Amino acid sequence: MKIKVPQDALWILRKLNQAGYEAYVVGGCVRDSLMGREPNDWDITTSAKPLEVKALFRRTIDTGLQHGTVTVMNHGVGYEVTTYRLDGDYSDHRRPESVTYSENLADDLMRRDFTINAMAYHPEKGLVDLYGGAEDMEKKEIRAVGDPDARFNEDALRILRAVRFAAQLGFTIESATREAIRNHVEDLGLISVERIETELTKLICSAHPEELEELYDLGITAKILPEFDRMMETSQNTPYHYTDVGHHTIAVMQHVSPTKVMRYAALLHDVGKPDCRFTDENGQDHFYGHPEKGVPIAVDVMKRLKLDNKTIDGASLLVLWHDFGMKGDLTETTFRKGVSRMGIENFPAYLEIRRADMEGQSDYQKEKKEADFARIREMYDRLLLEKPALTVRELAVDGKALMEAGIPAGPEMGEILKHLLDYVLEDPERNTRDTLLEEVACLRKS
Ligand code: ATP
Ligand code: MG
Repeated sequence: MKIKVPQDALWILRKLNQAGYEAYVVGGCVRDSLMGREPNDWDITTSAKPLEVKALFRRTIDTGLQHGTVTVMNHGVGYEVTTYRLDGDYSDHRRPESVTYSENLADDLMRRDFTINAMAYHPEKGLVDLYGGAEDMEKKEIRAVGDPDARFNEDALRILRAVRFAAQLGFTIESATREAIRNHVEDLGLISVERIETELTKLICSAHPEELEELYDLGITAKILPEFDRMMETSQNTPYHYTDVGHHTIAVMQHVSPTKVMRYAALLHDVGKPDCRFTDENGQDHFYGHPEKGVPIAVDVMKRLKLDNKTIDGASLLVLWHDFGMKGDLTETTFRKGVSRMGIENFPAYLEIRRADMEGQSDYQKEKKEADFARIREMYDRLLLEKPALTVRELAVDGKALMEAGIPAGPEMGEILKHLLDYVLEDPERNTRDTLLEEVACLRKS
């Protein structure tokens, strides 16, 4: 088994070896290399103590000296070099009370979470796989190192990591490991939001976002994303859907690109539905107003997870607009007004979620929905060609021109500009200086 270790990581290994220390690449990079995936980063494990590591390299950063990690900078890239260590007791279900350095690679591999993450590699010594990681990789299984119950008891975040790796790699969780997860879900309440968000976001942006259902089955979303449980438990008795809100949501996630904005938008696009269900006299369900209802809920969820503002803004905008134009009665004017309010720069993302939303629905009236969608695309293409004014900035008059026409600066000016934009959105031909000033004169007379 050969792994191609990049030159810069190899240089660090060699330097540690020449100084008399053991050193291996370890963890995620070994796992990903064996699977033919591109590793995110190359982590190194060594018998050298942190101060010994620091003494050997010119540029280092004290990333986590208390748990033995020094980042070595090489050609602008950071490599985490961690001393072989044994973790002490975990009395709080999240971090060891103490760490002890060790002389043995075996000790260091034993403290790692899953067998596929507990392999080390050295170009001459080859693969060190003490827990059957390669075999589990063949079986496509996530298995805890050692006693699963004890491992989840030590650090409850591993619960979420198990499902995250299953989602990224397309693996299943081995049965004893899965059972142990069930026993420790409650402990997730002790884990910081930041650590949870990191793992949840990796799962949501993975190749298999449908693993969210595994989180639900294991009782994990009940702890960290109860809004999803409500979606799973909201059925949709309507010809437009073949499944409940939760399964539909998963299907939409599978059909958008794996970016944070798109995946969180898909996850939350129908989050308002459980609160909006209305069953008519024929027993059919309707969800009037669910996009508007969903926005504050979506924002709450994303703030609770401490997601960045760019993701929160981008995803909540799509929650609000995801149903735009699908009633089939869109005129050129209402279309321009919608695009103006949404912001034309957001339109491609809207089209993406719109298309994914359709993919996750039943075939009922499919042709009509396809035709409506095609029409929206056409209108958008025409908009790009004709470039009508969609913002106040693109109007043929500006604040200065209005002041010359006698409008004082202040709130009235803002109102007039808004009115003029509406006036132009109704008919783009009106966007000339003369027409707009005439309109202003009319306004002031009335
Ligand atoms: P990624 O590709 O997402 O970075 P990774 O496997 O490298 O995946 P990291 O979170 O970067 O995951 O951790 C690096 C290694 O450290 C893991 O492969 C694993 O061996 C070990 N590890 C990380 N977190 C834990 C944990 N909570 N418990 C035990 N071992 C862990
Ligand atoms: Mg990593």
